Amino acid sequence: QVRVRFAPSPTGPLHIGGVRTALYNYLFAKQQGGDFILRIEDTDSQRFVPGAEEYIIEALTWLGLNFDEGTHVGGQYGPYRQSDRKHIYKEYVDILLNKGAAYMAFDTPAELDAKRAEIENFQYDASTRGLMKNSLTLSQEEVQTLIDKGENYVVRFKIEPNEDITVDDLIRGKVVINSSELDDKVLFKSADNLPTYHLANIVDDHLMEISHVIRGEEWLPSAPLHVLLYRAFGWTDIMPKFTHLALLLKPDGKGKLSKRDGDRLGFPVFPLLWTDPKTQEVSSGYRESGYLPSAVVNFLALLGWNPGNDQEIMSMEELIKLFSIERCSKSGAKFDFEKGKWFNHQYIQATSNEELAKLFEPILQKEGVNAKVEYIETVVGLIKERANLIPDLWDQSSFFFKAPDSYDEKVIKKRWKEDSSAQISELSDVLNAISDFSAHNQEEIVKQWIEDKGYHLGNIMNAFRLAIVGESKGPHMFDITATIGKEETLNRLKTAIS
Ligand code: GLU
Repeated sequence: QVRVRFAPSPTGPLHIGGVRTALYNYLFAKQQGGDFILRIEDTDSQRFVPGAEEYIIEALTWLGLNFDEGTHVGGQYGPYRQSDRKHIYKEYVDILLNKGAAYMAFDTPAELDAKRAEIENFQYDASTRGLMKNSLTLSQEEVQTLIDKGENYVVRFKIEPNEDITVDDLIRGKVVINSSELDDKVLFKSADNLPTYHLANIVDDHLMEISHVIRGEEWLPSAPLHVLLYRAFGWTDIMPKFTHLALLLKPDGKGKLSKRDGDRLGFPVFPLLWTDPKTQEVSSGYRESGYLPSAVVNFLALLGWNPGNDQEIMSMEELIKLFSIERCSKSGAKFDFEKGKWFNHQYIQATSNEELAKLFEPILQKEGVNAKVEYIETVVGLIKERANLIPDLWDQSSFFFKAPDSYDEKVIKKRWKEDSSAQISELSDVLNAISDFSAHNQEEIVKQWIEDKGYHLGNIMNAFRLAIVGESKGPHMFDITATIGKEETLNRLKTAIS
């Protein structure tokens, strides 16, 4: 049974790289008929940020990544928030202590600092632990006295030196690290009676029967330690399979993608808008910027994975069918936000006018526009091919809802000729006489009139557009006039020449 987990720490808004990790877990789980679990890793109270857990759930729900088990949906392996599992970890710390696989260390922060000053590149490990204040160097009575006095201690993992530790990674193959490079990691702190990330993570993956750990590359250096922990507990035959996903890189490929790149180049790095509860700083999100969740999912899926051919547009169902860990890339994926916009453009074209009208409605409301649903749907149908993001719908269509209150100076200079006023006035009469105001009929009649008069088609149409739209943009001219209607069209022409 495949069981995967997404295990974020609620230390802030979910980064888009984290969203991709969640997505790959989801695709893999659904493809294998397995379970997708949300576990909140909040044992580091110093870094806890209120609202982050809710944000993570809201963001993933928006994207259609629904969990089978988790803090918000429950499940048989709960609780799913590590701070609600505090009572569980001590037992496992004791197992390691009793086996001699871990030891208590009483060194104060000042004592540790002193050692760091004294010994270059100090690392708490087999080469230095003999110099420190811990249950390996102190007598049993001394240890007991310190505990009785209520001295704080940490439990450290006792790593034997000079052993090559192999991590089997489904993308990278065998990754070997020598144990001498690892320090005796802190697993537990008596001060708050809480485990650190490493211990809680291993114990929970074990108790929740996680079959595959799919996470970011930044955790690869911790993987040998995790392998050793599984070994110390005697759980190696049921150890999850590891996959470490390559990083998302800056658009130029130079280094890890960060929030600052987004701020600098004008794209969001968070799925939803986020207001920092401490600083009140607001960061933009994909949802509020006008991206469709299906487009974001499609775009992210291809950042570090490909289906083996050049197919780009894939629905969630197709992604579930096609996804494979073997086809995930070992090297980082450049974050190409223009491509993200391209995906959104494609998805907007594939979205029905009814759906788009609904997404457009809040923007119209903000602009103080009150229009019938059918009218909005017609407008959206005419201009959606010009939109990359939902707010572009307004930029491309405002003139359908409001007469221009000014005319673009540059366009006037270039397109409004000496005889434009007279011609527009004549055109007004021609249009006024048309009873079937369909785009097709108008076009036929107006073009015939231009021909009969020997006028310049381009000049007339440019002036016509300037009068109706206020600048030289928009869809087919007669689609605009047919949509806004005869009365509005004649009004705008009149205003333009008065
Ligand atoms: N809590 C860790 C994080 O925030 C989880 C890492 C893992 O998946 O093991 O990324």
